[in-house]
Order: sequence, then structure tokens, then C-alpha cells
Amino acid sequence: MQARLQDRVAVITGAGSGIGLATARRFASEGAKVVAVDLNEDAGKAAADEVGGEFVAADVSDEAAVKALFDGVAERYGRLDIAFNNAGISPPDDDSILDTGVEAWERVLKVNSTSVYFCCKYAIPHMLAQGKGSIINTASFVALLGAATSQIAYTASKGAVLSMTRELGVQFARQGVRVNALCPGPIATPLLMELFAKDPERAQRRLVHVPMGRFGTPEEIAGAVAFLASDDASFITASTFLVDGGITGAYVTPL
Ligand code: NAD
Repeated sequence: MQARLQDRVAVITGAGSGIGLATARRFASEGAKVVAVDLNEDAGKAAADEVGGEFVAADVSDEAAVKALFDGVAERYGRLDIAFNNAGISPPDDDSILDTGVEAWERVLKVNSTSVYFCCKYAIPHMLAQGKGSIINTASFVALLGAATSQIAYTASKGAVLSMTRELGVQFARQGVRVNALCPGPIATPLLMELFAKDPERAQRRLVHVPMGRFGTPEEIAGAVAFLASDDASFITASTFLVDGGITGAYVTPL
């Protein structure tokens, strides 16, 4: 395959696990220089080592840390081509609005939405300076579909990512900076699988809504992110980029 991302400098947040890790592998396989960012130092460093990239320990909900991250990358590499703002949390104390306290609400909004605001705020100036860049912000299919199995703060946080991304994509479209929202469907990351392997009924309750009848894989998401990051997506910005096994298109699914 053509190395679409040859020598592009790519920051991936939450690179230590799941979708971020699969994307670090995919970016590196397409020639990118990967900067793997994670709160979890062991996982983040392992990811960076595996793909021959650099590890930066940072909490993406910390404004000073995010500014230092992007300014540091621009200084060390002389450029910043791709920002995959992917780190996010889905904690168990985020549930029905009737049971979810404001502490959980604020924590989830901070890690899932405010972090994306920080990452875009401090990545975009470097991309504007070079007249080119691709930002992919991880939202979710839950930004588009309601669930009776609520995680109210998570859903609201992903809605914020989706609409913030659309606006940024429009604002910077004529300056060469593309900004897209990736909306994965349910993906078989270790966390999700541990939950559902223990409880097949909960898994089935979700899978019945997916036309393909299965969870996606982190590698399938990574392929979409690499596409959005590359020049193959040069006319795509401000998009709601669904990679969801058809879930948002479904009314009745096959048996
Ligand atoms: P994951 O838990 O496997 O990985 C997330 C990584 O982010 C972890 O390595 C974690 O240490 C890191 N992280 C968490 N908080 C951080 C912080 N404050 N600063 C820096 N790093 C931090 O998760 P995943 O399933 O790969 O999900 C990745 C993204 O995709 C998330 O934004 C998630 O909401 C979104 N998403 C996941 C699914 C799914 O089904 N798995 C579906 C739609 C969207």
C-alpha cells in the first residue's frame, strides 16, 4: 500500500489502549511519526515503543499540559500534521440522570469535551501556520441516537464534541485545516468486552440494533481515522463520520 502518511507528524491522545492503540499501529504502518499521549504511563510508553514513536505523558483535561504537548511537538518536529483527539472515559457512576451526581457529570465533560476544546485550541495555530492539517475528534454514535441504557454525561459530552467539531471544520475550511468528528458505533475494546463477556444478555440488547450484528473492531476504526488523516479525505471537513455497522441507519434489523 502507498504510505499515505509518510513522515506526517501525528499526535494521538489515549494511545495506550483500544482505538488509540490500533490507530497508533495503523498510522505508523502508513509512515507517520507517532506521538503517543496517555495518562497511563506504562500503556502509553508501550504503545510508543511498539510503533517507534515518542511517548508524552499528559492529562488531556489539563490545559497547561495540552498546550505544552502541542507546542513541544511543533518545536521538536518542526510541524504538526495530524491530531487524533481520542482520549475519553465512560465511568460507571455516569448513568441515569436520576442517579448521576454533578461531580461525575463535570468529570466526564472535562475529560471528554473540554479536553477536545484544549487539543483543538492548541493544535490549530500550528496547523494554520503551515497552511495544512487534519484533526479528528472522537465523538460517538450516542451523539446521534438516544439510549434507554443511559450514560447521561457521556452522551452530552459526545454531543458537544460533535457540534464543536462541525463549527471548527467550517471556520478553518479555507485555511487548509480539516476538522472531522469520528462517530464509532459500539467497538470491541477490552473494557466493553469485559463488561459484555460477563453478561451476554446486555451484549445482545445492544447487538440487536446493529445491522451487521456484531461489534466493530478497533482496527476498523483505525482504518477510518487513517483515511480522514490522509489526503484521500482532502474534500472532507466538518463531517459527522460514522463508522457504526449501520446502527444509525437502522429501523428494523435482519434476524
Ligand atoms: P480505552 O479506555 O480503551 O482507551 C482510552 C485511553 O485514554 C486509555 O489508554 C486511557 O488511559 C486514556 N485516557 C483516559 N483519560 C485520559 C486523560 N484524561 N488524559 C490522557 N489520556 C487519557 O477507550 P476506547 O474504547 O479505545 O475509546 C477511545 C475513544 O473512543 C473514547 O473517546 C471513547 O469515548 C470513544 N468511543 C468508544 C466506543 C467503544 O465502543 N469503545 C464507541 C464510541 C466512541
